[in-house]
Amino acid sequence: MNGFVPSEQVSILPNPTPAKPTRRKRWLLIQPKSRTNLMVDSGKVSIPLNLMMVGTLAQKHFDVEFIDERIGDKVPQDFSPYDVVAITARTLNVSKAYEIADRALAQGKRVILGGTHPTMLFEEAKEHATSVVFGEVESVWDALREDVERDTMKPQYRAGTFKSMQEMDRPDFNIVLRSPNSKNYSFRIPLLATKGCPVGCNFCTTPTIYGKSFRTRDTDRVVNEIKFHQDRLGKKDIHISFMDDNISFKPAFMEELLNAMIGLGAKWNANISMNFLENPKVAELAKEAGCELLNIGFESVTPETIKYVHKGSNRISRYDEVVANVHRQGIGIQGYFIFGFDTDTPASFQGTYDFIMRNRIEFPVFTIATPFPGTPWFEEMKPRIEHFNWDKYDTYHYIYKPAKMEREEFLHNFIKIQREIYSWKNIWYRMKGKPFNWVWMVNVAMHYFTRQLKPQMFL
Ligand code: SF4
Repeated sequence: MNGFVPSEQVSILPNPTPAKPTRRKRWLLIQPKSRTNLMVDSGKVSIPLNLMMVGTLAQKHFDVEFIDERIGDKVPQDFSPYDVVAITARTLNVSKAYEIADRALAQGKRVILGGTHPTMLFEEAKEHATSVVFGEVESVWDALREDVERDTMKPQYRAGTFKSMQEMDRPDFNIVLRSPNSKNYSFRIPLLATKGCPVGCNFCTTPTIYGKSFRTRDTDRVVNEIKFHQDRLGKKDIHISFMDDNISFKPAFMEELLNAMIGLGAKWNANISMNFLENPKVAELAKEAGCELLNIGFESVTPETIKYVHKGSNRISRYDEVVANVHRQGIGIQGYFIFGFDTDTPASFQGTYDFIMRNRIEFPVFTIATPFPGTPWFEEMKPRIEHFNWDKYDTYHYIYKPAKMEREEFLHNFIKIQREIYSWKNIWYRMKGKPFNWVWMVNVAMHYFTRQLKPQMFL
């Protein structure tokens, strides 16, 4: 006898009622499709990294379903199977997000809105949500999760300090890839190595969300994530798309990352600062590390415009040299050009055309200057903005009259440059001798697309 007495022999308490297993709440995550008529959200679209991250965190505690309207998934009319509906929105798809949110609220669901537009316009977004998340979800997740579990959700979740990127999980791609429509995603795998960009361009939402902060991830974490995708897909030759706002803001980090990626066998593209590329060694290293395309925000070839938008990292006098450094390594360029700032004139279009042709830029992208809510420039332009129809805030619609051009003249030039750059003759001139890959296909698609452009499409 060891003195042990089974508890049931001595208990004088009545048997407690067995605790009911708590039901895991069910979340529906939604990426809405915009209503814009101009190529945005059509064709192959990127995997939505931020919403996938919400799912990655949420599935540890809740049951999660994911819908991406852009790839053909259908948003249900009836939300009765769900407790929480979480929707991400930029300005161009926010009216669709509000419509879905209102329907879910009317059915008694808890609704969470996140993404750039709800972050920027909390007062507007809160009318359509139980809670609005300011900026990234990772930094507010613990509080949000607890409040959802207790049903004590607050109107806004905003982090006092941002979480270190070393503490962030690797996004679970199964969440998005289980849709039968996932074949409509781009083959490029989104990945983050940094967050934030303190350059401070006045038209950009990033500095408003992240302020002066710039965070980096340990390079071995980035490399491990690339290797994970190589194992998942059973091949080395995968295509990574760095979604960072400005991966090269800290040149020392970028160099360390490039060195760590040498020999991996993955191809990649990224947004990169022009001043970083002034050093020819950077493009050399990028090539060694597998770079196939760099996304460069030239924005303008008009010096007054670069000054007007406060883009201190762009020096127009070095543009040709930067392009030559990149092309010498056989790396292609997706170049972004914005028209319609008050400093622009009809000559800005001709100057841009000459620059692109002289430097044989592979994939030029033209947009119309758009004051996004929450930016310093939006406040400045507010009195002159002609409408606040968010569906048209897709950077392809005319929002206000530029100081030095009439509307007709502006739109005529905006269409003309696109038609000329994407004429067969000019595509051949820019692309001959370049690798026959998807960039060629984009040029062909852009040729047909630009033939259809008419001024009223931009109004
Ligand atoms: S450099 Fe790019 S990401 Fe940074 S503030 Fe300017 S536009 Fe935004």
